[in-house]
Amino acid sequence: MPFSLGQRAGQLVSAYHRYVQRLLYLPFDQLHRDYGALKSADPDVDLIAMVESNQMITGRNWHPARLHFLISAARHFAAALQNEGFTVDYRKAPTIIAGLASIQSDHGQLPVICTEPSSFRQHQLLQSLGASFVANDFFLTPRPLFEEWAATQKNYLMESFYRAQRIRLGILVTDGSPTGGSWNYDKDNRLPPPKKYDGPPYLEHSQDEIDKQVAEELGYTPSTTWATTRAGALAQLRNFIDHHFGEFGPLEDAMTTDNWALHHSLLSPYLNNGLLHPQEVVDAAIAAFDTGAIPIESCEGFIRQLIGWREYVNGMYWHLGPDYRDSNHLNATRQLLPLFTDPAKTSMNCIKQTVTDIGSRAWVHHIPRLMLLSNLALITGTNPQQFLDWMRETFIDAADWVMVPNVIGMGIYADGGQMMTKPYAAGGAYISRMSNYCKGCEYNPKLRTGETACPFTTLYWDFLDRHQDKFAGNHRMRQQLFGLNRLADLPELRVRAQEVLSGLDRGEI
Ligand code: SF4
Repeated sequence: MPFSLGQRAGQLVSAYHRYVQRLLYLPFDQLHRDYGALKSADPDVDLIAMVESNQMITGRNWHPARLHFLISAARHFAAALQNEGFTVDYRKAPTIIAGLASIQSDHGQLPVICTEPSSFRQHQLLQSLGASFVANDFFLTPRPLFEEWAATQKNYLMESFYRAQRIRLGILVTDGSPTGGSWNYDKDNRLPPPKKYDGPPYLEHSQDEIDKQVAEELGYTPSTTWATTRAGALAQLRNFIDHHFGEFGPLEDAMTTDNWALHHSLLSPYLNNGLLHPQEVVDAAIAAFDTGAIPIESCEGFIRQLIGWREYVNGMYWHLGPDYRDSNHLNATRQLLPLFTDPAKTSMNCIKQTVTDIGSRAWVHHIPRLMLLSNLALITGTNPQQFLDWMRETFIDAADWVMVPNVIGMGIYADGGQMMTKPYAAGGAYISRMSNYCKGCEYNPKLRTGETACPFTTLYWDFLDRHQDKFAGNHRMRQQLFGLNRLADLPELRVRAQEVLSGLDRGEI
């Protein structure tokens, strides 16, 4: 095994063997000393089991930045536990179960204890191994509590959940009312990008020997965007709070070619692999807000993402069950477009830039994910499961629990409205308003027919046309359908839409 920690751990294992009473399995997305099974761990009696599964690395077409981040963070965390005095048995194995079984057999078949896993699949695998679970407290909302909330809802509106969270957790609430007078500052948080972005440069993270070794094993040169240690994650949090938080809100939906991150926090990878806990991020945000330096719209917008959307999506993942991922309400059958994996396959400037950015860092913020990538998959009728797979493999923070509801429910309406009251479909006008992509594009966001018509604009109307019957009963779609039925050029638009769809299939639009 090329990884020295595993060798050291292997040697240490025999020395400590007779003392070990518990075998704590630590997956790569629960890397926090103070939560889950590790919270009560004792170096004198607990052996920490970690498995780097070959299936995890080679089983899918993962973005190498994602693999590097997850593996290097896990190895750093294992080393930190060893420094604390723990015995860590970190193994490379064909699968997690094979690795765990071999660790078990070296330790007298001790039962495996772990925190409730973050996906249905892992839960089932660990159950089959007879693991016992500690409640998952990597979120602020325990799973049973979310179920209690869901049981009282007619439709699962995020806004209702979010307001209940604010009250329950006492965050941005003053005497039972929302601090600042409003629950929601979305109307203040929709500014287009500035003419020229002149914000502070983003934090870069240096690489140590572990990072370099993982990079060499993967044959990949990582950027300096992502930290792989707890200290790096905390530095990223501090950097956001000190240099970006105040500007975050108003520009949170903007997209610009000037800067790939604007004022986004870049904390989701660390929240999703455990290096940061949401409570720590909430505490830092509220402490900064309490100094008076952070406008309410920035603070509320950030808190909404953290205790609203993030927790809601995780709750819905468990609430909706393992079959939800197979939903395909709109019977979308198109194969994944070639432009998703190769930006050279499109002249659409917004998509070309976004897919190129993803290639560099495995990250773009929530609006390109929702209003460019998912919107395109939605209005082209791309198969939901193919698009979900691509999103899962591509983003650095793409846990199963976050991607399944975000793609199937929010992004492409494949669940028929179990999560969203209407599909997030939009034409070029929205993208033109919220970005500077259209200035450098050979298509025109204002046109819906003709060779230079923006594909988003053409396909937005065509999407409404194709699914009129499905949306007819939805009062939130009434205005769009009214607009559709007033289009004088609908016959030409239908023809152009077919040209655009087949051009996208060929990678020539
Ligand atoms: Fe994207 Fe259309 Fe704008 Fe081009 S014109 S950048 S395709 S929205």
